[in-house]
Amino acid sequence: MRQDPFGRRRQQQAAPRRGFNPRILILLGFLAYGAYYWFSNQTLDPVTGEKVLIARSLSVADEKALGLQAYEEILSQEHPVDPDAPIARQVRGIAGRLIAKVPEIEAALAAENGQQPTGFSSTFDWDVNVIESDQANAFCLPGGKMAVYTGLVPVAGNEDAMAVVMGHEIAHALLRHGAQRMAQQKLSQMGQMAGAMSGMDPQQQQMVMAAMGYGYLLPYARKHETEADYVGLMLAAAACYDPREAVPLWERMSAASGGASQPEFASTHPNPGTRIQNLESLMAKAMDYRARFCTDGGVVLR
Ligand SMILES: [Zn+2]
Repeated sequence: MRQDPFGRRRQQQAAPRRGFNPRILILLGFLAYGAYYWFSNQTLDPVTGEKVLIARSLSVADEKALGLQAYEEILSQEHPVDPDAPIARQVRGIAGRLIAKVPEIEAALAAENGQQPTGFSSTFDWDVNVIESDQANAFCLPGGKMAVYTGLVPVAGNEDAMAVVMGHEIAHALLRHGAQRMAQQKLSQMGQMAGAMSGMDPQQQQMVMAAMGYGYLLPYARKHETEADYVGLMLAAAACYDPREAVPLWERMSAASGGASQPEFASTHPNPGTRIQNLESLMAKAMDYRARFCTDGGVVLR
């Protein structure tokens, strides 16, 4: 027997419920907190001149401690090469030259935006290890703990290109990209919780999260890559390396990854072509930085 599908609703209409669905209140609460979190944690990065999201509750000391913890964990799982091995000495030498230029370059880039540098990097305890691995990879964690994987050595091919990669990694730490990623993750977790509590079905929630990844998190990650390319290139140039090596370097990198690059919108790394174009557009400035800041030696460029 067919039931009257509107039967229940008619009953409800006879005695209408007052007020909101509590779920809407919960959603509004999340939205308000998300907006509050967003606006109250905006800070200006003097080096890029961009407003960025970093939790004010995350102190520089906390960030360094997290970096150190991650570094010790990675080193205990990987195989660092003997610090006296020629490759370790060479990488340490490049790191030393780059690090020596950090205060000057941060100040120069900040001055171009009419800002003072934060001095955040003056608290870093720099360290670099070479890790035995096939990966063509390198990193610099918050607080200045760095590693270069031996798989990067043949792809870099020369000291200038190695300095470009290491400058890029140092720039991620200087610009506090790790702390920015943590703040973004917190926002996306809030979004996930709001989605779950609003009664969306899991499939809908997944679609929303995927859209957020494409629309918000991935472009952010690519922006970080572009910023690290910029600051890293200036740093390498100031440390008397040849910034023009950046272009063939990224060509070799893309060849080494099998040329199988994902479409840019789906990747955290910029499309190699876009990246190279961007680096080429920075080259005049990088050569100018080299002329201005490479005052203590380095090879004479042709
Ligand atoms: Zn990067």
